[in-house]
Amino acid sequence: MRYKIIYFLFIFMLIITQILGCGTESNFNNPRTYTHFCFDTVCTITIYSKKQKDESKTIDACFNLCDKYENLFNKHNQDSEIYKINSGTLNKAVSKKNISNNMIVSPETLGLIRQSLYYSKLSKGAFDITISPIVDLWDINDNPHIPQKNDILKALKYVDYNGIIIKNNTIRLSHKNQALDLGGIAKGYAADQIKNLLQDKKVISAIINFGGNIQTLGNNNDKDFNIGITKPFGENADDYSAKLKIKDMSVVTSGIYERYFKKNNKIYHHILNPQTGYPVENSLYSVTIISKNSIDGDALSTSAFVMGLSKGLSLINSLDNIYAVFITKDYKIHLSDGLSIDSDNVITIAK
Ligand code: ADP
Ligand code: MG
Repeated sequence: MRYKIIYFLFIFMLIITQILGCGTESNFNNPRTYTHFCFDTVCTITIYSKKQKDESKTIDACFNLCDKYENLFNKHNQDSEIYKINSGTLNKAVSKKNISNNMIVSPETLGLIRQSLYYSKLSKGAFDITISPIVDLWDINDNPHIPQKNDILKALKYVDYNGIIIKNNTIRLSHKNQALDLGGIAKGYAADQIKNLLQDKKVISAIINFGGNIQTLGNNNDKDFNIGITKPFGENADDYSAKLKIKDMSVVTSGIYERYFKKNNKIYHHILNPQTGYPVENSLYSVTIISKNSIDGDALSTSAFVMGLSKGLSLINSLDNIYAVFITKDYKIHLSDGLSIDSDNVITIAK
């Protein structure tokens, strides 16, 4: 519990400080920030464009949508579809002869699982939502501890995205001990959907921030938004390794300084290696992905982190209009193709 409170305070500070110097121009000088607790973190929406009459209704609709996704995707929520898939209790499809093991899933949940599988293939298994039993063993959020090696080896048998069988609108997991965890992709998906909703409501400038998973809508009165890339293990929440100038794009970071515990001076964090069942150990502190869609940023920041600097950078460089900033443990900044950095560590997308 103590870890949870410290984590939430940390995330809240991050949200307040990660968006820098926005809203200083005349037409846009009155940003309004709305806060909601969702996805196990603090979620904020800041609107920069002129206030509409029904802004509070728009915000309510956005946060209702967040709750809807939370109720579909959160594996700890006993009413969620993911919980029911994991426990085998979702409605079963009826085949000609009898009831099959295939469970009928909503289009949203199925769509997100399909997207997850796309990233599993793209990352050659670095991203794998069947990591769930391993996530539960480490229990970083509620009861962080080093699991027994034997338990890790047993759970590892069920980590394999090829065991997710999708047929039409149904899903089946190959083994009853297999389970799904959408923690590495759900916030990005939700941020995109909220952006779409804001656009439908004719909002032209906003920042959606789900615990550091940032999606921007439009620009800040014809200027770029300034988004800070947190300095890993910095003394203050507003210590930045670099600043990004972007508009209408998403910025998502996966790092080991977010959710972790220390034992014998060693850091155990929440990004897990599907090969070993242990927290990823490589030269990285964090990976930030800049992309149009936040779902790409969320899945790819986790994927690239697991893959490490060299393979992760190659993957990002092979993708169009997706950029990455890797921070290694020596605090060096490594940029993907298409980004440039100036002497003040301000990063821009090269024109
Ligand atoms: P955050 O949740 O802090 O935004 P990430 O997007 O990197 O961070 O996702 C980490 C979460 O994703 C973990 O808490 C866990 O639920 C899940 N996860 C951990 N390792 C993997 C992995 N290799 N592939 C897919 N999901 C993972
Ligand atoms: Mg992620």
